[in-house]
This record gives sequence, C-alpha cells and structure tokens, in this order.
Amino acid sequence: MAKFSRRGLLLAGGAVLLAGCGSDVVPDIPGIPDGADRCRTPESLVDFSTVGTGTLGYEIDRTPTPMRSDPAFLERLELWAEDWAALSGLGAIREVWSYGAYVDKCSSFHQAGRAFDFAEVVHDGGTISCRYDTWNPGTDAQLRDYWRLAASLHLHFTYTLTYLYNAQHHNHIHVDNSVSGEELSTFRQRSEVQVQLVQSALLHVHGRDVEVTGSYDQQTRDALRPVQQELGITAPLADAAGWQAFLRATASG
Ligand SMILES: [Zn+2]
Repeated sequence: MAKFSRRGLLLAGGAVLLAGCGSDVVPDIPGIPDGADRCRTPESLVDFSTVGTGTLGYEIDRTPTPMRSDPAFLERLELWAEDWAALSGLGAIREVWSYGAYVDKCSSFHQAGRAFDFAEVVHDGGTISCRYDTWNPGTDAQLRDYWRLAASLHLHFTYTLTYLYNAQHHNHIHVDNSVSGEELSTFRQRSEVQVQLVQSALLHVHGRDVEVTGSYDQQTRDALRPVQQELGITAPLADAAGWQAFLRATASG
C-alpha cells in the first residue's frame, strides 16, 4: 500500500501551494526549545474562502482562492476583520489578497495554519495596500493607511511583521497568533516590532516628528505623551487597556 505524506494528502485534497513567508521565525516559539526541530504538523485545518465580508484571493495570480487555517486562528482573523471594518471608516471589506495562510514550510507558524500574509484589503470605500515593494517610499496617504491597518493587526496579533522588519515583508504584513493565542495583544517595551509600530503611528498617523529607531527611547516617550493626552488615553502602553486604546485610536486615524 502506498504511503502518503500528510503534505501529499493535503495536496490530493485540493490544497493550493501557496508562497507564504518563510522568514517569520519566532525566536521563542512557545513549547519549542531553541535548537529543537522547528517543523510541525497542524492538528486540524479548515478551508476558508472569505475573510470577514471579503472574498479571499491569492496575490500571486490575483485569483479568488480558498486557503486553509487552524480553526482557532481563523476565529481571531474573523474578529480582526469585524473590528477593522468598523474602525477603518472605509465600509465593508470586499476583497482580501494574501500570500497564504497554511503553508507547509518549517520554522514558520504558517505550517501550523496559524499565520496569514496580507497583501491588500479592498473595502467599499477604499483600498489599503501592504505592497511597500510597489509604492515605496509612498505618499502620506499610503503610509497613513498602511500604518492604520498595521495598528489594527497589532491589536489582534502580538506577532505582526511589517516592511520595517525585513525585505521579505516588503510585499505583505505577516500576522500569527504564536504569542497572543486567543487574546488581544499586549505591549512589551523590548519588542522591536511593537515599538516600530508606535513610532510609525506617531509619525505617519498622528503627525509627530519621530525617528523610527525600534527602541523605546526618550524621543518616542516625549512624542507619545501629548498624543495620548489628545486622545484621552490615561493608561500607559504597559497596561493592556492603554495599549489597546492607542491601537484602536491609531487604526481609526
Ligand atoms: Zn507570513
């Protein structure tokens, strides 16, 4: 009797080979010690062909394409979509273009079906592109929209990677729930990607003169304080409520 690998079975079941991104290695993957085998097999995967009210498509060939995901991760993606549609002010989501959800690639949460790569989100009232590779350096409006969307993703996924992370992410924003699980995110000053979000939000959404350094330095704190005051946010970023309020205010622009 022929022996089929799980990958073979998934492909036989109609899965589409997706690109995904391979560089989003979480340094401290929960439950997986450093140096251990970083390949994993998803427990169960579900097909999905929409994200919120938007049709899901593969960015490479710009064709509507069902993808696969861990069901608990998909719930988080759906919660994000509902939240973002309301915060964005752009109306209902019509299309979501992606580089992949489940992808059989080691050292990535895509292999667990717990990751998703955003290329573009099309709403009734506008389109937000994550294709920094096509619009770099970008207009003020493009950068503002990109970082508003990034803020909403940071709210729902602690591990969110933007074009600032590395060149592999110049054409998409990667999210996974490796850290945040089934919760909203919380802020850690030592998280370079979260600090980059704060600095980019201050610069591109809130109009402050901030250098994006990736470290939670004095110029960042000095720029942040008056913005928090204007937004009526009294809790610091270190508190979940303060972090989430800042991200919601940034997402809604
Ligand atoms: Zn990815």
